[in-house]
Amino acid sequence: MRTCKCEHWEVCPVCKPEWFDSEGNRLPPEPTPLQKANGRIGELEQQLASARAEVSELNNNVTICVVRMGELRQQLADSQQALRNVYEVWAGSEGIPMPEADYEIFLLNVVEQMRDAAKEGMK
Ligand SMILES: [Zn+2]
Repeated sequence: MRTCKCEHWEVCPVCKPEWFDSEGNRLPPEPTPLQKANGRIGELEQQLASARAEVSELNNNVTICVVRMGELRQQLADSQQALRNVYEVWAGSEGIPMPEADYEIFLLNVVEQMRDAAKEGMK
């Protein structure tokens, strides 16, 4: 077993092998518990900042969705009103009371199909 010739205030690779690398260079000291805690706080602060950024982006997306939903509701209301208007044109018309000619029968059939399609769309 090798013994070193260190004085009591010194260390060398023989008396403290865990403090040196394989080439005999002194390794940096292990972080103290306080330094470790500070490092961990730094990491956590980083994570908190990115979580906050994510929440903020999600909030923006929710706002965009709410605005878009409002626009779509309005479009739906407008479309249903247009269908109601189409239906009321039918309801307020005399129509063709006694269709005789082929073209009258054909037209009445087309108009009735349009009426039914409008009614279906009003639901
Ligand atoms: Zn030594």
